[in-house]
Amino acid sequence: MSAIQLRNLTKTFGDFTALKTMDLEIADGEFMALLGPSGCGKSTTMNMIAGMEEPTSGKILFGERDMAGVPMGRRGVGFVFQNYAIFTHMTVRQNLAYGPRMRGAAKAEIDRRVGAIAELLQLTPLLERNADRLSVNILQRVAIGRSAIMEPAIFLLDEPLSNVDAAFRAVMRTELKQLQRQFRQTMVYVTHDQLEAMTMADRIAVMDRGVLQQVGTPLEVYNNPANVFVARFIGAPGMNLLRGRPAESDRGLVVDLGPLGITPPLPDELAATLRGARGDVLYGFRPEQVALAQDGRGLAMPVTFVERIGARTIVHLGQGEGAVKAVFDNDVGLSIGQTAVVAPLSSSVRVFDAASGLAVRVG
Ligand code: ATP
Repeated sequence: MSAIQLRNLTKTFGDFTALKTMDLEIADGEFMALLGPSGCGKSTTMNMIAGMEEPTSGKILFGERDMAGVPMGRRGVGFVFQNYAIFTHMTVRQNLAYGPRMRGAAKAEIDRRVGAIAELLQLTPLLERNADRLSVNILQRVAIGRSAIMEPAIFLLDEPLSNVDAAFRAVMRTELKQLQRQFRQTMVYVTHDQLEAMTMADRIAVMDRGVLQQVGTPLEVYNNPANVFVARFIGAPGMNLLRGRPAESDRGLVVDLGPLGITPPLPDELAATLRGARGDVLYGFRPEQVALAQDGRGLAMPVTFVERIGARTIVHLGQGEGAVKAVFDNDVGLSIGQTAVVAPLSSSVRVFDAASGLAVRVG
């Protein structure tokens, strides 16, 4: 019943298309993140699911039920926004109890539910505190509790953690995931923060400029991005992409990167798919999936910058279109001005068609 289907969903504002023919199926009990940069249409999609905006065309189904014309209050959805919506003149307990009380729940039942949700969200010691004396972090937790206590079959959260501080955000990521596991709601979570999407979601819908780019598990979108946008957007730093042409060498098919030289041979299956292809490609590899080549077989590039972030070291290499980053778990002892020879791990290499931006799929 609480599966969600978006079919050919489009939203225009005047002659601006905020969402273009989006198809997405969210399974009952699934945690789906809508992830993309600012303005990509995430909130517009969410507002239509909630019933706050009408689609220009296309359909939204909850189970088999078409939501066209069904007002927000009758959709059975819980909604949490970026800005907490709570009554500041009430205590935390009164805020949490508000929804069930309005629905006419018995006092014992209200007490039980308030107790359970307060425990889950670590609000028990704060239940009698007035909301106007609480920090933004806690207020957002109360706002989540106020929606969750209604046990909606569908829970929509639009950037709920963007105003809370970093340490608290990490705690809340875990709590939200536990909340969803416990209530088994279908959860749709809007964020521009890939860490949130990657750590919490069962699947991620990556969006850009009103267009759905890819839907997949966090590992799928990380390992096999469908196109150049997803490759760059997912990962911190994103995937390295170098322009070149497939070329035969005595060691197998390589990509000729022009002034940067040639790449190590492509893995067999990728080489078989690319052999005979015409036109430029983008040779992609994750910054985390490179080694420093000891035998000189790799891409020789000048080190332009070294960032040491705790245990990790991010080494910037090359410049302009030929710039890449390499991430190491330890301090590899490189400094600016040196030349490093980096070899992408063969299994991590991905190739994209330079004209269309689409991934070259093996097989
Ligand atoms: P953000 O995280 O910045 O909110 P978003 O991905 O949620 O980004 P939306 O809020 O869905 O993006 O907006 C998508 C585009 O539609 C934006 O360019 C926005 O300016 C535009 N837009 C949204 N609502 C309206 C409206 N009521 N009238 C005109 N344009 C709108």
